[in-house]
Amino acid sequence: MYNNFKEFLTKEITEIKDAGLYKNERVIVAPQQAEIKLADGSTQLNFCMNNYLGLSNNPELIDAAKGAMDSHGFGMSSVRFICGTQDLHKKLEQKISDFFGTEDTILYAAAFDANGGVFEPLLGAEDAIISDSLNHASIIDGVRLCKAQRYRYENANMESLETQLKLAQAQRHRLIVTDGVFSMDGNVAPMDKIYALAEKYDAMIMIDECHSAGVVGKTGRGVTELFDIRGKIEIITGTLGKAFGGAIGGFTTGKKEIIELLRQRSRPYLFSNSIPPMIAAAGIRMFEMVDKTNTLQDKLHSNTDYFMEKMLAAGFDIKPTKSAICAVMLYEAPLAQQFAENLLAEGIYVIGFFFPVVPKGQARIRVQLSAAHEVEHLDKCVAGFTKVGKELGVLK
Ligand SMILES: *Cc1c(COP(=O)(O)O)cnc(C)c1O
Repeated sequence: MYNNFKEFLTKEITEIKDAGLYKNERVIVAPQQAEIKLADGSTQLNFCMNNYLGLSNNPELIDAAKGAMDSHGFGMSSVRFICGTQDLHKKLEQKISDFFGTEDTILYAAAFDANGGVFEPLLGAEDAIISDSLNHASIIDGVRLCKAQRYRYENANMESLETQLKLAQAQRHRLIVTDGVFSMDGNVAPMDKIYALAEKYDAMIMIDECHSAGVVGKTGRGVTELFDIRGKIEIITGTLGKAFGGAIGGFTTGKKEIIELLRQRSRPYLFSNSIPPMIAAAGIRMFEMVDKTNTLQDKLHSNTDYFMEKMLAAGFDIKPTKSAICAVMLYEAPLAQQFAENLLAEGIYVIGFFFPVVPKGQARIRVQLSAAHEVEHLDKCVAGFTKVGKELGVLK
């Protein structure tokens, strides 16, 4: 039986390779940070990590995680509602609510699970989900698991959203769903306009803050800070795997009745293990750190501004952004691949993105800035881009 299947799989894999879409994984042999060591012995400056606040290898978080292993053990061996809830889990949920100015929070093993488990318990066939066309894969999967009527609007396009909201008046409850920051372009959802349309058409809002929390807004409180709508959004989902330490863990935070029902009915919460105590303790310490000072957020913002300015001055075509994601447009997939390859030889680690991750003819290199970067790292990155840009005829 397997022989036939094996042949089938081998053919699929060959097709992926022939299309130039095969993903290879580079092996890092040291902690995740600005300067990384790869298994081939090279040292690279990392510009493709979601380590926005530079906390992935932070000594305080490591210390908190180690301490919790001594005080609370290694694993929970349980889901939350059986015997998987420690004081640490409750405290982390409270910290997340305080950070976002929300009423209550529920933890998941990952944001993928938070998004996968949020729709089905809350909405039924009588209801409507109005979703941005560039929303994250986990939102798309979560929506698929739910019986609500689906409406899709063009990315951050308010005319398109309004059209869909009019159609969705036929349903009982309406939920607009959007990423806070879209990961491929780095654009921020226009939450002020979305909020106004939600009021006009009697809809609730869900924001996925995975790429915006810790990053966007003066103090990094995310898009609700940037657009001054703190406390007004029904549902926010997010991750501990990006700006917030980079380990693992996700959450849904928002109106308390919503969170209460999710604790009763959300399947990835009910049927999947509790996050380990060390992750909860490190998360608590992380929120204590960002509550005390905005040093990291300030550094991230100044790094982002500095990098964008230098890249524009060098002549690169860059998508406008308010996030820490800088999409350097190259348009052609082979060029993006070659560009990233040449940058690696310059000690700059970035990845080219092309179809199907982004639309055809929209290939680019995505640079992600971090508070872990120093100005000399940024200068080296711009110099690398400039050199390769000239080599490949992207720059004159
Ligand atoms: C990364 C990401 C996720 C998944 O987060 P995990 O915690 O790694 O599962 C979900 N939504 C968006 C928008 C993301 O960028």
